[in-house]
Amino acid sequence: MSLVHDVIIIGGGPAGLSAASWCDELGLDTLLLEQAEQVGGQLHNIFNPIHNYLGCDAQDGQELFQAFTLNLEKAEFDQWTQTSIESVNLRAKTISLRSGEQLQAIAIIVATGVRRRELGVEGEKRFIGKGIIESGSRDKQLFTGRDVCVVGGGDAAAENGLLLAEVCPTVTLVHRGKKLRARREFTEQLHANHCITVFTESVVTRIIGDDEVQAVEILRKDGLKPFQLAVRGVLIRVGVEPNTELFREQLELDEQGYIGVNRDQETNVDFVFAIGDVSNPLSPTISSALGAGATAAKVIASRLTRGTR
Ligand SMILES: Cc1cc2nc3c(=O)[nH]c(=O)nc-3n(C[C@H](O)[C@H](O)[C@H](O)COP(=O)(O)OP(=O)(O)OC[C@H]3O[C@@H](n4cnc5c(N)ncnc54)[C@H](O)[C@@H]3O)c2cc1C
Repeated sequence: MSLVHDVIIIGGGPAGLSAASWCDELGLDTLLLEQAEQVGGQLHNIFNPIHNYLGCDAQDGQELFQAFTLNLEKAEFDQWTQTSIESVNLRAKTISLRSGEQLQAIAIIVATGVRRRELGVEGEKRFIGKGIIESGSRDKQLFTGRDVCVVGGGDAAAENGLLLAEVCPTVTLVHRGKKLRARREFTEQLHANHCITVFTESVVTRIIGDDEVQAVEILRKDGLKPFQLAVRGVLIRVGVEPNTELFREQLELDEQGYIGVNRDQETNVDFVFAIGDVSNPLSPTISSALGAGATAAKVIASRLTRGTR
């Protein structure tokens, strides 16, 4: 083990990047570890305009990411992408990488965000790129004139269903709950749209096809047997889950697996912080993620200056 970094940040989404930039500005020696090919996190999955991030009216996440990149050009923190972490000892502040390298820090910031929850049914993985719709706004043209199914009942499912209904003859929305969870503005539009059929208390049990998606199998709560619905595309939005597997045994998590923090973004382990979506903020947004990154960096800097280690 060579150098001891002041701060190691795990995750390079908006939260991690904000923390890294603030740590850098506050004179802390900072290393950011990102598992993906590039930093940016969920920004790479946003294909619709972002009007709610003040200072930049971006056409999509990519455009906002470019703005972030420009802003960070002068920052001097180290960032390692495509970095796979084997294990973390949060009390000792050590991190073992799959490459065999050992890292050590004074403080660790967890900024690992969330990932889309999978449906866990047959065909879900097999038909990626062959009928599984990644995004309503991005893939609309590809599915024009095709019947599609949307699985989920929250805002993301409803919004994507409405987008697809602009170009698809039929959109069938399948939701396991009794009532859609999406905001009223969306549910009213869904019910008013004659292309959209909503099946509540129903689940998709299988995605069927040869080379491409041809149908979904649906089981309704009041039905005895599942039935097949012919569709050419399936979009799945059944919520998200936190990326906390590495920390499960060491940090206090809530019942959904999100990391518990106080108002200073501190976890139950001293000098370990959690920021952004992984800490279940009231509003999981880019602005909250950036603010939490700033908070963690400032708290670390002030504690190190005051010598409260
Ligand atoms: C379709 C869509 C639309 C959205 N629209 C908006 C919007 O209009 N306005 C808005 O404010 N917000 C929007 N959001 C939400 C916003 O993108 C998130 O709140 C924000 O990205 C959270 O940032 P984060 O850094 O906490 O997490 P993430 O962006 O999830 O980043 C986490 C990063 O950590 C990395 N990571 C995970 N595990 C590890 C590991 N073990 N080792 C190393 N790295 C790891 C991931 O690869 C990822 O890069 C949208 C999100 C989506 C998906």
